[in-house]
Amino acid sequence: MCGIVGYIGKRNSLPVLLEGLKRLEYRGYDSAGVAVINSDSDIIFFKKAGKVKELESEFNKDLLNGNVGIGHTRWATHGEPNDTNAHPHFDEGRNIFLVHNGIIENYLSIKKKLSLEGFSFTSDTDSEILTNLVEYHFRHKNDFEVAVRMALTEVEGTYGIACICKAEPDKIIVARMGSPLMFGVGIDETIISSDAAAIVNYTKNVIYLEDGEFAVIRKGGFQLKTIKDEHIMREAQRIEYDLAEIEKGGFEHFMLKEICEQPESIQNTYRGRINFDTGLVKLGGLETVKDKLLSAKRFIITGCGTAWHAGLVGEYMLERYCRVPTEVEYASEFRYRQPIINSDDVVFVISQSGETADSLAAMKEAKRLGATTVGIVNVVGSTIAREVDAGTYIHAGPEIGVASTKAFTSQLMSLALITLMIAQNKGTIKERELDEMLRELKMLPDKIRQIIEKHKEYEFVAEEFKDSRNFLYLGRGFNFPVALEGALKLKEISYIHAEGYPAAEMKHGPIALIDENMPVVFIAPKDSTYDKIISNIEEIKARKGKIIALANDGDEDIKRYSDYIIHVPRTAPIFAPILNSIPLQFLSYFIATARGCNVDQPRNLAKSVTVE
Ligand code: GLU
Repeated sequence: MCGIVGYIGKRNSLPVLLEGLKRLEYRGYDSAGVAVINSDSDIIFFKKAGKVKELESEFNKDLLNGNVGIGHTRWATHGEPNDTNAHPHFDEGRNIFLVHNGIIENYLSIKKKLSLEGFSFTSDTDSEILTNLVEYHFRHKNDFEVAVRMALTEVEGTYGIACICKAEPDKIIVARMGSPLMFGVGIDETIISSDAAAIVNYTKNVIYLEDGEFAVIRKGGFQLKTIKDEHIMREAQRIEYDLAEIEKGGFEHFMLKEICEQPESIQNTYRGRINFDTGLVKLGGLETVKDKLLSAKRFIITGCGTAWHAGLVGEYMLERYCRVPTEVEYASEFRYRQPIINSDDVVFVISQSGETADSLAAMKEAKRLGATTVGIVNVVGSTIAREVDAGTYIHAGPEIGVASTKAFTSQLMSLALITLMIAQNKGTIKERELDEMLRELKMLPDKIRQIIEKHKEYEFVAEEFKDSRNFLYLGRGFNFPVALEGALKLKEISYIHAEGYPAAEMKHGPIALIDENMPVVFIAPKDSTYDKIISNIEEIKARKGKIIALANDGDEDIKRYSDYIIHVPRTAPIFAPILNSIPLQFLSYFIATARGCNVDQPRNLAKSVTVE
């Protein structure tokens, strides 16, 4: 999920690799490493947890001297960020060196097979298993290219890789499946990367790999093939945009990029955790506390800000489908109010960074009082991830924009998976309903894509309301927390005052604010609350408020009541908050940019709040 660089050509490769790694730093990472083939065909490597600068300051540059090399910045998904887990990985005989972005889902079964063949491993990563699988095939076939190809046909999951071989030091092999990989074709040199930012300084002629393709790159040229060994002809494309644009993948802001990454980030959250043939949901990180989860008398979910909103959705999910009483607590309040906790309670702690000071303190308090603690965290190896009894990573990838977007929807997806896993094991969900949910789940990435394609609609509404001074967001049931999150997003990045309420609560106070200057965003999907929401819309309309309705595709009736409609595809109620949040992210984004606000770094806010 982070960065790959590689160089083969006439120059000394190390400076190119280090400069490339620095260009990729903006993506966020936790460790870095390089491996270079020197003139005696020995492979010398150096890798370390921390920043590229630290890596660079600690090794003897003269040792890494050669014109073939690979490098990596790691965003840990399997195993905490430490020196051993950093890439490149290599086999025991140090023949194959490999850098990998992505997740190898079936690494455990491959590890078992390789262990029986006498292979041993030093790291906790899935990537080391892939490296050894290449070496395993190399030993049988004595051909680097064939070995890589055979290994890749065995793995499931996502990868971008760059790989070198001591026995065949004249080439680098790269491949891609679901994780970007490209190479720049210069004069007598090739620069490999997962991101054009590391290439443009050397050449603007770039070949992008597609999923299922690999390339064998030599000093004199390259061969492009599919993993099934079919030859491919492809011209290099010229990239014309500048570095700042490339870093954001062509998007104007990281926030927009991250909003648009949600089809993939959601898929990364559930990938490998559901067996769609049997319908079984399995979260490896929760196996050790499964009994506790199934026998818990009460669930408590704690977090701050956006994570707290995710928790509120989690409460609806867990109570409805698992029939276990659930409470949601602000982490900052939890430990100061002498909570009554006992050993039958399971406390979930949600934090993108895994470092949020209040959430960490709440987790420690829950632990001290005897509860089982479960983390729902993005950053692997972070403090909360390390200190909870068990946990699940949301695998949303690095989130750079200060206002959380893709991490929020991945938190919702993790909570849905936990809910389904518990409900399935307790028998509190009907098989038919579960089947229907899993069918919907498979379609979710495409439905998110449909929402993203409509961004012009949000831009139009944003333009209309960019000068409003207040906003109300209203929703019911699963979508009440979505209203809270929609309002928070707007406040965070546009500095417009906004409030979220359960739609019916509006009558108990906020209705006094309604006049022709008050835009009200209704989250109004066609679910069991629809008729009630329509009544609430009419109440606002009667007082001249401006209605922006988020309605399901095909709902034409709602036109009668609304000034503006944003359509979203319909899905199962448990996943509706994921889909419904995305147009609201767009809306805040476009309002904020129309107002000229710095959306990636809003004033006064920090990405990870590490003070209490
Ligand atoms: N899954 C690999 C690891 O945890 C690769 C992570 C990445 O994409 O940086 O090491």
